[in-house]
Amino acid sequence: MSDESITEKKAPGPTTDLKDMNDLVSLCKRRGFVFPSSEIYGGITACWDYGPLGIEVKRNVKELWWRAMTDRADVEGLDAAILMHPKTWEASGHVSGFVDPLVDCKNCRARFRADQIDKTKYKPNECPSCGKFGTLTEPRQFNLMFKTFMGPLEESASVVYLRPETAQGIYVNFLNVHQSARQKVPFGIAQIGKAFRNEITPGNFIFRTREFEQMEMQFFVKPGTDMEWFEKWKKTRIDWHLANGIRKSKLRFHQHKDGELAHYAKAAFDIEYEFPFGWQELEGIHNRSDFDLKRHQEFSGKKLEYFDEVGRERYIPYVVETSAGCDRTLLVALADAYRTDGDRIWMQLHPNLAPYKVTVFPLMKKPDLLEFKDKVFNDVKKKYRATQDDAGSIGKRYRRQDEIGTPFGVTIDYDSLSNNTVTIRHRDSMAQETIPAEKLTSYIEEKIAGYKVVD
Ligand code: ATP
Repeated sequence: MSDESITEKKAPGPTTDLKDMNDLVSLCKRRGFVFPSSEIYGGITACWDYGPLGIEVKRNVKELWWRAMTDRADVEGLDAAILMHPKTWEASGHVSGFVDPLVDCKNCRARFRADQIDKTKYKPNECPSCGKFGTLTEPRQFNLMFKTFMGPLEESASVVYLRPETAQGIYVNFLNVHQSARQKVPFGIAQIGKAFRNEITPGNFIFRTREFEQMEMQFFVKPGTDMEWFEKWKKTRIDWHLANGIRKSKLRFHQHKDGELAHYAKAAFDIEYEFPFGWQELEGIHNRSDFDLKRHQEFSGKKLEYFDEVGRERYIPYVVETSAGCDRTLLVALADAYRTDGDRIWMQLHPNLAPYKVTVFPLMKKPDLLEFKDKVFNDVKKKYRATQDDAGSIGKRYRRQDEIGTPFGVTIDYDSLSNNTVTIRHRDSMAQETIPAEKLTSYIEEKIAGYKVVD
């Protein structure tokens, strides 16, 4: 028999949340969630690469969103090109209006968005970085779209933009989708894809980057029913974040007041999350009225009306948009999951988001245990993304999995061989349970279905 034991000491002390983003950044680098982009060349500002575990979480985020949207009978999927006809961006208002007011400090060369300088903290014309007065330039309007050239000639006629949002690819395909999918209003179009913004002040890890992914859905409705749909989508979207295990106390709605509303919006609410750096937008829900379709109709000369067969009437639909950042949703999942009690760090990720659902551990590297472990591992990985670890003490192995959020550890010891059982160790409670080996997959299925976040 072994001198190793599968029981571990209970974690002492109270649990704390993520307090400092640097702790998350270093865990992400160490364990392979997120790396600074082009790191061997010194990195490039506000660009990040997803490592082996990060890409798994990101794929889970996208898959959960995609299923939540397109499993509905009234939403269709789309994947439009990043490069679009340049007139798209004139029609959408981005060429003239997608600007931020940029100010520079002539003393310390720091750069700010004038609308983001906290007026309660800093006097007019005081630099938030070096504290000097009178050194800030007048705000200059800076367009956030990345420009490039299509074809071999770098001239104004060939300028194209990297899309700053995915929504416009949906509007220009409204008729194509409506006709090909034979959808009737109300219906929506969902899309996940890259967007690019030359942000003046990127930062806070992957919160604000210059290249990011959006998960956007545009829902086309009959004018007059728009506010009703707006309320429905507000609820649907916050419920989705809650179902992913994000704590209710950390989410809230923020309503855009008159001065804050975008040029296209009739009503707008942000779903905000309380990050260690304060409450910030996670997703926007917007009533965009008929602004976009009307503008594309005007600029393209192509009718974008809908004929309602029941009411025998023609109209341009209103649009309710839900617009979430994929990277930001992932950041919220990681930040919300981060827990520590002193010496233990664990990611209390919802199992649906966790990179691995299960790890299988042989108590020791003995042939009979390894053989049984292989059987269990090969069986469970048919259904769940699983990993295995046989290096070091069992306590250390549990901790390695805690840090990456694996919800279930499955240990094989000599009792397993004699009784055909496995011992499951739970990440959140550290409790252990012994069950028949052949029940493992159905046991995990049941636990994932009933999973509740411990606040
Ligand atoms: P802000 O005013 O903070 O620049 P916004 O209100 O213009 O942002 P939207 O255009 O509503 O943002 O974008 C929709 C969603 O896309 C945001 O809620 C966010 O999750 C994500 N997003 C927007 N910009 C970025 C970015 N630079 N980096 C990462 N995600 C972003």
